[in-house]
Amino acid sequence: MMRDRETAAATSGGSSIEYADMLLLRFGEFILKGKNRTRFEKTVLRHVKEMVKPYPKAVLSKEFGRIYVTLNGEPARELAEALKNVFGIASISPVKVSRSEFEDILAVSRTFLEIIAPAQGTTFKVSARRVWKDFPHGSIEMNKLIATPLLQGYPGLLVDVKSPELELKLEIREGHTFIFCEQIAGVGGFPLGTNGKAMLLLSGGIDSPVAGWSSMRRGLEVECVHFYSYPYTSELARQKVVDLARILSRYAGVIKLHLVPFTEVQTSFTGIGQDNLIITLMRRAMLRITTQLAEREGALAVVTGDSLGQVASQTLSSMNAIGRATVLPLLRPLVMMDKSEIVELSKTIGTYNLSILPYEDCCTLFVPKSPTTNPNLRIVEKIEATLPGYSARLDAAVAGTETLSITPYGDEKPSDVVTVQAGLQEEWF
Ligand code: ATP
Ligand code: MG
Repeated sequence: MMRDRETAAATSGGSSIEYADMLLLRFGEFILKGKNRTRFEKTVLRHVKEMVKPYPKAVLSKEFGRIYVTLNGEPARELAEALKNVFGIASISPVKVSRSEFEDILAVSRTFLEIIAPAQGTTFKVSARRVWKDFPHGSIEMNKLIATPLLQGYPGLLVDVKSPELELKLEIREGHTFIFCEQIAGVGGFPLGTNGKAMLLLSGGIDSPVAGWSSMRRGLEVECVHFYSYPYTSELARQKVVDLARILSRYAGVIKLHLVPFTEVQTSFTGIGQDNLIITLMRRAMLRITTQLAEREGALAVVTGDSLGQVASQTLSSMNAIGRATVLPLLRPLVMMDKSEIVELSKTIGTYNLSILPYEDCCTLFVPKSPTTNPNLRIVEKIEATLPGYSARLDAAVAGTETLSITPYGDEKPSDVVTVQAGLQEEWF
């Protein structure tokens, strides 16, 4: 999925990326979506712009189906690593730019091969595309004119025009020619926010960050909601969630994190003599509070890291009793996944090492010895109705919620709007 497909590098030890003048970003599957396309492309561009912000010399420009990042000395590999995580980007090619003159194109092509140093027996072809019709040689002619001297210089290369291991692409444009041969796989999916907004219940565990990433990849904008029970849960547990949100923000540019003080609500469930229902009651309370936050923030769904049967609160019966506490659609991207698959994904996304840090979550603290796997909804509702001042406590938790806007660079500020200021060329908006 996020694995690199550095085609040329696969045939040798070398990569042309350090040599690149520019990165060529291609859009992904959403291209099929007809008239929404312009909006989608703009969203990707905005996200790319956010990722490029720490590299002030880099300049962006956009073309049908593509974005170009001219590096002007900024580090190509580092930028490609960041940009391949932008949802909606299908692939990235490091590009060398030469003048559109035959001798220059040949010289750069030669240097390309020297850098890549293809192994003996690597199959090869040149694919030229003459976009600028006044260039004196046609595409097919250019294939031969460039390939012949290259093959003379590298007798170990074998020509294969059908499926070569190494394909040197030339795009001849007025003024400049783009030369490239590698494709780094991007994360794909839909541009962020193009499928609406949802609240993500983010715990400190392995599952919920993966659920958040999966939602974002389908174009959902996500705001995180975390419940903490100070002083029962530590400052470290809270910091862990901030750090997890920061990893998610790499995929979003910026992400909101709502920190909800949950102690008062949680302690209202202890001492009622129904310990086996505590988890059900806590989850329902979380959903009620999140629903209020969702209304305030204009979100239309709630995402959780639930996976069917994983723990007592994730049986079908529990999901049923818990889910009824909200009128919003509950999205559970991991519901049918095995734990091992979820763990793999969390490693790829980069949240795993943080998730396994052993700090207490508010739920683990109050977990009874035998939580029910089959809660009785009628009893649960009755308990909630008879708890003194219960809805006032829920309202107080909403009122006491603190909101941070988390960025990958750690420059948090109180939520509000984070404006994007990197140098976009005017024609783009
Ligand atoms: P995770 O690894 O995401 O913590 P889990 O397997 O530990 O999941 P539970 O602890 O039962 O499962 O939590 C189920 C879901 O409830 C989580 O995936 C998350 O969406 C939500 N959740 C649990 N605890 C919290 C919390 N303190 N704040 C916000 N959401 C929470
Ligand atoms: Mg958990």
